[in-house]
Amino acid sequence: PAPVITVDGPSGTGKGTIAGRLAALLGWHVLDTGALYRCVGLAAVQRGVALDDDAALGNLAQALSIRFDGERVLLEGVDVSTEIRTASAGEYASRVAAQPAVRRSLWRLQRDAVRPPGLVADGRDMGTVVFPEAPLKLYLDASPQVRADRRYKQLKDKGMDANLSDLARDLAERDRRDRERAASPLRPADDAVVIDTSGLGINAVLARVTDAVRD
Ligand code: C5P
Repeated sequence: PAPVITVDGPSGTGKGTIAGRLAALLGWHVLDTGALYRCVGLAAVQRGVALDDDAALGNLAQALSIRFDGERVLLEGVDVSTEIRTASAGEYASRVAAQPAVRRSLWRLQRDAVRPPGLVADGRDMGTVVFPEAPLKLYLDASPQVRADRRYKQLKDKGMDANLSDLARDLAERDRRDRERAASPLRPADDAVVIDTSGLGINAVLARVTDAVRD
């Protein structure tokens, strides 16, 4: 089987950027698993499935067609790349992510994404649950303030509406849900390399990550 490097941590730590840059450096594939949860949340709302109906959401997650086409995310063939990045889609994602049946459905999908020459998997439980056998596990963290600032800049850069204090509050709420849920709570794997990215620019983080890859 092809090798996997896992990149976990809360949002706004630079995970997505680092996973993408690392994959490009290695010539590997990258998997944004947050996008999968965001698609399930969005599809549930579109179809009127309650965000706490475990069985119905599990079936939905299993039946959905989610495809990545470069930077684009296609849900049932429809480009939802922008729609899944909104604050409400983030909230739907974190609510469906607390449902065990959803996590089980996506577990299979995520395992099936492994392809040669290798996969960089970005998420919350890549190192703890989905790829516990991965030889290198990274866990990125940063202070809540720094993370809210980064999310704010990211949304502004994409030309999307954003309000810093709303973002900080949403992030805190999503974090709490991700850390306190019974199913795969957010935490570093025992053998993860933990990097606090608070005072670091993206290149400095990437340098530490490539050091960890070499070791
Ligand atoms: O990383 P992103 O902000 O796109 O993730 C959206 C939500 O999806 C997270 O807040 C989390 O609740 C959930 N998620 C998860 N497990 C993953 C990836 C994302 O529970 N592997």
